[in-house]
Amino acid sequence: MRHALFTITVGFSFLISHHAVAQDMEYAQKVLDALCADDMAGRGYVEDGDNAAAYYIEQEMKAMDLQAWEFNYYQTFTMPVNSFPGKIELEVDGKLLIAGADFHVEADAPSVKGKYDLMYVSSLPQIAPSGRVIDSTASYKGFVVVDDTLISKLPPPIRTSLLKGFKKAGAKGIIRLSDTKLTWTVSKQQAPIAQFVVNRDAWINGAKSIEVDVKADFDKKHRTQNVLAFVEGSLEPDKFLVFTAHYDHLGKMGKDVIFRGANDNASGVSMLLNLAKHFSIPENQPKFSIVFIAFAGEEAGLLGSMHYVQNPVFPLKDIEFLINLDILGTGDEGITVVNGAVHTTEFEALKGINEQRGYLSQVKKRGKAAISDHYPFSEAGVPCFYIYTMGGIKAYHAVYDVPETLPLSGFEGVFKLLTDFVGRL
Ligand SMILES: [Zn+2]
Repeated sequence: MRHALFTITVGFSFLISHHAVAQDMEYAQKVLDALCADDMAGRGYVEDGDNAAAYYIEQEMKAMDLQAWEFNYYQTFTMPVNSFPGKIELEVDGKLLIAGADFHVEADAPSVKGKYDLMYVSSLPQIAPSGRVIDSTASYKGFVVVDDTLISKLPPPIRTSLLKGFKKAGAKGIIRLSDTKLTWTVSKQQAPIAQFVVNRDAWINGAKSIEVDVKADFDKKHRTQNVLAFVEGSLEPDKFLVFTAHYDHLGKMGKDVIFRGANDNASGVSMLLNLAKHFSIPENQPKFSIVFIAFAGEEAGLLGSMHYVQNPVFPLKDIEFLINLDILGTGDEGITVVNGAVHTTEFEALKGINEQRGYLSQVKKRGKAAISDHYPFSEAGVPCFYIYTMGGIKAYHAVYDVPETLPLSGFEGVFKLLTDFVGRL
């Protein structure tokens, strides 16, 4: 189905435009599948998944004959990270719950193992910022079961104090019963006690005890790297256009559960490599240089892009424009351009191309947003956009974000829009 559509669109683009170039969807799918495969371990911190992904991207860049800065495709740095390389088991009154589907262990959980009584509470104890339990009569034993909404909306520092307080008052862990879709993350620290977020549907009403076995591993200095390469411009090689996409995702929750992150952000890396492949062909050589950066550590808090901004390989002042690609796997409802409301000239140009060519159903603008790797550049004064696709499958930071169900419906449109955009700069 996708293949047939591809042929038609390519034929059509030849008729209406000599600018629009055919997009190699076969290569796009190949990169997507490779980055989501078992051996990439969700491009996180179990089984060195992030490093496996970095190596793959480096090999692809080398195969395209992209240039490396001083022969080095890697910009290495270290980051603190909590990961779950071992067991993740949660049994409620003898019923084994399924990790990823029925429950998530919170990303900041420490190791915990044993059989515990359950204690249901309907309100939280009052906690001083120091973590002292103000209500001195509060006392807990075993695991505390609470409604997820009581904790999930608290600001992170208060949450940390609360967990300290629970621990001081005797709790061994927390179960949060949730009615919303489970979403996971990556944590740069380990909390005082473990929390599990459990789908209320999977829970046994009035359950009396749980048996848990979670192995967490906190690494203060996990070694990772941004991967970058460039194509030299023909007229103004010292001016740079930069394309970026983070390649890291959440990794694995225990030995068996992989967060593959097809949409977030294997799709963006696939676009990055597709653009690199296009501009590496001599007849497509751009007037100015184009840098391609695959960032590490985005999910842990934009760590790779922040590291780059503090240690730029290509000076920030020489960047004419930067486009960050994160979540490009759908597109039925077009794209959103973060910072489109800031850089209006560039946004109108992008929108104008789309109106002329009809690549996407919509090119929508948005203001500033600290939600992806463009942000540290934006704050440092580098003009930039962050583009993501809209519509289609909604799986986000969950085990359901897989390549098999990712439609890539806007992929070709975004590719053509971006190559046209570069051509007009
Ligand atoms: Zn992302």
